[in-house]
Amino acid sequence: MLVLEYKAAVKKTQSQAIDEAIRTSQFVRNKVLRYWMDNRGVGKKQLYQYNTQLRAEFEFVKSLNSHATQASVENVERAINRFFDNCKNNKLGKKGYPKFKKDSRSVEYKTSGWSLHPTKRRITFTDKKGISELRLLGKWDIHTYPVQLIKRVRIVRRADGYYVQFCVKVDVTCETRTSDGEVGLDVGLEYFYSDSNGHHEENPRFLRKAEKAIKHAQRRIYTKEKGKNNRRKARGRYARKHLRVSRQREEHAKRLARCVCKANAFVAYEDLNVKGLVKNHCLAKSINDVAWASFRRWIEYFALKFDTKVVAVAPHYTSQKCSNCGETVKKGLSTRTHNCQHCGTVLQRDVNAAINILCKAKSTGGHPGSNAWGDVSSTSIGRKTSRGKKGR
Ligand SMILES: [Zn+2]
Repeated sequence: MLVLEYKAAVKKTQSQAIDEAIRTSQFVRNKVLRYWMDNRGVGKKQLYQYNTQLRAEFEFVKSLNSHATQASVENVERAINRFFDNCKNNKLGKKGYPKFKKDSRSVEYKTSGWSLHPTKRRITFTDKKGISELRLLGKWDIHTYPVQLIKRVRIVRRADGYYVQFCVKVDVTCETRTSDGEVGLDVGLEYFYSDSNGHHEENPRFLRKAEKAIKHAQRRIYTKEKGKNNRRKARGRYARKHLRVSRQREEHAKRLARCVCKANAFVAYEDLNVKGLVKNHCLAKSINDVAWASFRRWIEYFALKFDTKVVAVAPHYTSQKCSNCGETVKKGLSTRTHNCQHCGTVLQRDVNAAINILCKAKSTGGHPGSNAWGDVSSTSIGRKTSRGKKGR
């Protein structure tokens, strides 16, 4: 599944109509979820029946395209399945019980409710929400794909405007790897990652700079009086700064991940799900966490492309163990060098950990990384950006 995205030129009345459509889709999602919570054991079929009931009951639900409200039900269905899967697989920590949405940013249409202008530079939404025709900006060409391959159309609201996304059903074509290396990756605060070959990938400058700028913009909000226009503007500036960083981060992660998968037949990294659950209040750390999460998503994406095996291992004792002799060498967070008294190995701390990760992955097989890419839900993309915004 390929996602093409265009910025849309939107008039004031249209933005109100889009917001209304987004609200409706969120309303349906939350209602259906509530229905599922209140009626234990209801199946898929009942959820869709309930959707039909909602359409009959509320005029504003009916005015949204029927497949679009179905997409909201599918969204709930996915959340429920994910929750049950996590329980079944005994995932550590939170199981992700489906939550109500408060600040939804997108509405998803399926194959109806919209039509593309013959030039494909304009899209018209034909349901009764009154969005009507949007002009598409941007350079990527949707022309090259037949309309039948467009399985989803999504309107996404961001800090700097509205975007239209097309999910196009195309097979991921395989590319050839340039070499068959094996590599273990360790993430730290100091470097973006360190690998088992002794390479350190520097943290990109924009991440370091971003922290300062974001903090500044955030403080500015509170200097403005509540409820006033200036405060709203300051909030907008803050959100746009976040957006800019998350785009840069995404590009950076994508480029690195492609390089790693292209050069290696086997990639191992720590499964940071467990660690990630620990809430931290350090901004630099949380920016890094988000960066790592997106890097990991891209690794999994490119692994399919280059036919690279990706394995995630549980993050236990990877930094304490000696990668040469296996003895435990205790060190605090501030100790940057691994210095083994047992066998005399001296390695940079993160490189030692990366070697351990690689060995562990090869010996246990670990578990294959979970891949969110088959999932074309509105949340998979909407959530990504909103996560970035809050900086967790
Ligand atoms: Zn040793």
